[in-house]
Amino acid sequence: MAYDDSNIFARILRGEIPNDTVAQNDHALAFRDINPKAPSHVLVIPRGAYVSFDDFAANASEAEIAGFMRLCAEVCAMEGLSLDRGEGFRAITNAGSHGVQEVPHFHLHILGGAVMGPMLG
Ligand code: C5P
Repeated sequence: MAYDDSNIFARILRGEIPNDTVAQNDHALAFRDINPKAPSHVLVIPRGAYVSFDDFAANASEAEIAGFMRLCAEVCAMEGLSLDRGEGFRAITNAGSHGVQEVPHFHLHILGGAVMGPMLG
């Protein structure tokens, strides 16, 4: 699937739409989900143009992947969710129509602060 740079996260990355930034680095941005599904709900997105998890995993550079993953760890620590500081979290990514992906720019949802419900539904 070709990347469409008019998607809302591309616009956030270009600074065209405001966001509630939690943390960032050279390769990724983390911000609070506008419609949180848990007490802590942060989205982590790469700065590069990747549609989905599999696109990112296959095509991003090692530096991009490392930068993205380190920012995820930073968010877990900052939000008090990591297992050495808190009670854990859920990290999920939706892809395509079966995954019910709304925004076609790869993003990881990090959810925590309460016991999560069933995975499907
Ligand atoms: O994984 P999926 O694509 O379905 O999720 C997109 C997420 O982006 C939703 O949880 C929605 O609340 C969030 N969103 C946001 N800020 C926007 C637009 C969407 O946090 N401006």
